[in-house]
Amino acid sequence: MDRVNSEGLNRGALAWALTRRDIVMRARRTNSCLLCCQGPVNEAGLCDVCSVMLSEAEQKLVERWMAGVGP
Ligand SMILES: [Zn+2]
Repeated sequence: MDRVNSEGLNRGALAWALTRRDIVMRARRTNSCLLCCQGPVNEAGLCDVCSVMLSEAEQKLVERWMAGVGP
């Protein structure tokens, strides 16, 4: 089980985290990126830097958050 805390997520846990509303909401509330803990973050809880290095599957999940659909 990957911890979700101030150290950020393991890269491999991102797709899982993007399906978890509580985790994404916490990242948004604290304005701290899921991966690198920097801000500001977008609707998916990711900063600009991390948003551009997503896999295709992760990008699809992010797009759902950006569209306001959620997990
Ligand atoms: Zn980041």
